[in-house]
Amino acid sequence: MDCCAPSNNTEEVRTNCPSCNNKGKSVELITLKSLLKASALETIVPDTSYFFCPNPSCSTVYFSETHLQIFTEDNMKVPVYQKNPNMDVPVCYCFDWTRERLIQAAHDKQQPADQIKAHIKAGRCGCEVNNPQGACCLGNVTTFIRSFNKD
Ligand SMILES: [Zn+2]
Repeated sequence: MDCCAPSNNTEEVRTNCPSCNNKGKSVELITLKSLLKASALETIVPDTSYFFCPNPSCSTVYFSETHLQIFTEDNMKVPVYQKNPNMDVPVCYCFDWTRERLIQAAHDKQQPADQIKAHIKAGRCGCEVNNPQGACCLGNVTTFIRSFNKD
């Protein structure tokens, strides 16, 4: 398709979460394919765009651009960091850094963010198939570490 051609497509792509109206982040289909339970996976429409809702106070994890589909944490194989405050939930999914483990590492004067960065640099991370947000966890890790280092 010519990118400069005027679009006749009047169907609106809705990137805001149908549940909370916050802006969703586009995710690749491979992320849903990797992390949805079979019963939810059986309902996805592969030529539809899906979005991730990062809002912690909203239970919707993924929604389709048509707003016809919503997936919640119950539909996921893994707990979702943004939606689940438990200590055993991963912040970094690829290298299994849970909230608990990050706090422990900080007490032990380790630098988990540096370890994770080194793995990323070495090309070892697979956020698109491990992390429900479908993108790198590093921002979440540094924000989380900063949040408990403060108090
Ligand atoms: Zn939402």
